[in-house]
Amino acid sequence: MKINVDRERCVGAGQCVLAAADVFEQNHEDGLVELLQPEPPENLRASVSEAELICPSGAIEIQS
Ligand code: SF4
Repeated sequence: MKINVDRERCVGAGQCVLAAADVFEQNHEDGLVELLQPEPPENLRASVSEAELICPSGAIEIQS
């Protein structure tokens, strides 16, 4: 699975971190999303899909 985050769109809500802490974290300085794993394993697809769904700014995209 390949994912992409758009830090220009991210509003720092942190929902992605709650959904998939192995994949996303918030930058300690600006609070915006940081991608820990651009290509996470398939067993994380459900939690990454959840993050994509609940992100309020649409900043997360699952590309494959
Ligand atoms: S849920 Fe969306 S807006 Fe919130 S920190 Fe994650 S990427 Fe940014």
